[in-house]
Amino acid sequence: MVQTSMLIKPNLNAQYPVVDYGQGVYLYDQQGTQYLDGCSGAIVANLGHGLKQIADAAYEQALKVSFTYRTQFTSPAAETLAQRLVEKSPGMDWVFFVNSGSEATEVALRLAWQYWQERGKPEKRKVLSRRVSYHGMTLGALGVSGHYGRRHRYNWLLHEEPAVAEAYCYRCPFALEPESCGLKCADDLERKIRQAGADQVAAFIAEPIVGASGAALTPPAGYFEKIREICDRYDVLLIADEVMTGLGRTGEWFGMDHWNVKPDLIAVGKGMSAGYSPIAAIMASERVMETIRAGSGVGVFGHTYSGNPQSCAISLAVLDYVEENGLVEQVRETGQRMEAMLRQLASVHGIVGDVRGKGLLFGMELVADRAKKSCFDSKLQVANRLVSTAMQNGLVIYPSQGMVDLYAGDAILVAPPFVINEQELQEMTERLDKSLKQVAQGLESEIGK
Ligand code: PMP
Repeated sequence: MVQTSMLIKPNLNAQYPVVDYGQGVYLYDQQGTQYLDGCSGAIVANLGHGLKQIADAAYEQALKVSFTYRTQFTSPAAETLAQRLVEKSPGMDWVFFVNSGSEATEVALRLAWQYWQERGKPEKRKVLSRRVSYHGMTLGALGVSGHYGRRHRYNWLLHEEPAVAEAYCYRCPFALEPESCGLKCADDLERKIRQAGADQVAAFIAEPIVGASGAALTPPAGYFEKIREICDRYDVLLIADEVMTGLGRTGEWFGMDHWNVKPDLIAVGKGMSAGYSPIAAIMASERVMETIRAGSGVGVFGHTYSGNPQSCAISLAVLDYVEENGLVEQVRETGQRMEAMLRQLASVHGIVGDVRGKGLLFGMELVADRAKKSCFDSKLQVANRLVSTAMQNGLVIYPSQGMVDLYAGDAILVAPPFVINEQELQEMTERLDKSLKQVAQGLESEIGK
């Protein structure tokens, strides 16, 4: 691995290879080492790398017009993209473009607050969220994120700590079984709304499948239907953070489509441009936008690069590519094969406690003792070990350690590009198999585990 410059990394002690180029699901560094991208970067590069069709769309748009400002012009690319997203979405009516998932969460919070202000209920201000969650790094978004590692230094600046129980069947917060639990984790939202006072609560924000913080925590059947019903009963807006799950990643266009639930606001980002340019969006339902239209009619948010034509043209080309190649259906099929392969690995590696997810978004939780579900000592940094061992074996996977304050849990995300083929899937599984074996052997000789 090449020793890299210290100039550009927040982790001053880390060493990363310097990438040269990507092709399909592979990345190559400047030494010529090949890596299979088993997590699409940060669950972003949904189409892999090096697609001429996307590069051409970027080139053509750059020649036509490079930039327009959000209070002066829209562009055909932005207009068409908004239309296409609305058509695909579960009941959304309006779109606003931003540059990152964090910004999308920020706009969702502002829209929720403005909605209640326009309805004459400005005291409805609290935004509830789950103890295991991640909604972004900016301070508003971080405030509603249950991600200890990312928030603990700034707690003094943030909203109240997220308090709603996680939908986490492997370690049920109420020590219940999925078959007979009665969805107590969903009922916990009702309890927290009542504790806060429904007249104080603006919204509940949740990821359909918890990504960075919970390694693909997947809710039990009926969970989001019940959440929707509770939000309606207490007049609380439901914000779906689909930054990771949106636009095909879970085998449906939106994560909420798995349960036919229509949120009031949806944040999307990451895979929206498949990594070819930064872009994200917030989408709102007619209910929210009609109230704002009938009120002041003005939303005070946005950034210099909001709706940048270049990013919009790229995002449109990505949507075209996904549709033309039937990739959402392909994710569903490939996801089933990947799940079977990951479960097979779990059956032979004692350190894998749980495998969960949907489509091509899967998590593996790592445990010291499978029968007791006991966690490794967090000092051992087991997830990080697995990630760096995999990297040495030519496989990129994503560590998920947000649960650290609650369970000291180590987990990884496996989320390859939508276009991964059978042979590449085999290769990914073999490299993961080898890495799990090496980490388990290393732990065995270090701590006798
Ligand atoms: N929400 C979710 C669900 C995410 O996974 C992320 C990124 N991991 C964000 C928000 C923040 O997105 P960004 O890093 O683009 O600001």
